[in-house]
Amino acid sequence: MALLPELLPDELEMTKPDKQANEQTAKHNKAMKKHKEKIDGCIVRAEEKRGVSILLTGNGKGKSSSAFGMAMRSLGYGFKVGIVQFIKGKQQSGEEIFIREKHPEVYFWQMGTGFTWDTQDRNGDIAAAKTTWAHAQELLQDASYHLVILDELTYMLNYEYLDEEMVLSALRNRPEEQSVVVTGRGGGEALRDLVDTVSEVQDIKHAFKSEVKARRGIDF
Ligand code: ATP
Ligand code: MG
Repeated sequence: MALLPELLPDELEMTKPDKQANEQTAKHNKAMKKHKEKIDGCIVRAEEKRGVSILLTGNGKGKSSSAFGMAMRSLGYGFKVGIVQFIKGKQQSGEEIFIREKHPEVYFWQMGTGFTWDTQDRNGDIAAAKTTWAHAQELLQDASYHLVILDELTYMLNYEYLDEEMVLSALRNRPEEQSVVVTGRGGGEALRDLVDTVSEVQDIKHAFKSEVKARRGIDF
């Protein structure tokens, strides 16, 4: 079938928008090439193979859910995962149901009973924090765990429920191939200095402040 004369490339006059589009494409390709060179350089330099320590902090939503996202990633490869939550055990969450029901192979420990924000029993809180920390410490000494999540651990440091040096030294001395994720607001400068990656989730806005009720599967 013969092409219509106006579609023959040789006879196409480049219109102004075409020229603009071509220039834009060329500019984009040049920028991408430069970007690729930079990334490739970083990839070549990033030779060290070891577990990493990550702190997810800040006032915005997304810290614990990001940590649980990494648990999902690790489980996808069949790696061993241990999770210790420094929170009251009463609050049920989708992640707890998921792990307890679908992934019983995951080591899962919640501070739970004994922890009493409401009753202001500082000694009781400290005792609960210490008992819970013992579980974390065990995981941090067990090289079979690929990933350890210490959810809301920072509050134990903020309130001085746990000794900072004890926590930092356990993080520092964990098995080389093990990664650890700590979540929670604050946590202190020494923790930030120690870990490899720090991400601060910024609170731009949150539905809760517009009086939208916390949602199952989204907020807990
Ligand atoms: P998520 O578990 O959703 O990733 P998070 O771990 O970053 O949240 P936390 O401080 O642990 O944040 O709080 C957990 C609960 O509080 C979640 O229900 C979350 O939606 C809510 N939340 C988190 N940040 C805010 C905020 N800035 N304002 C109001 N509610 C928040
Ligand atoms: Mg959280």
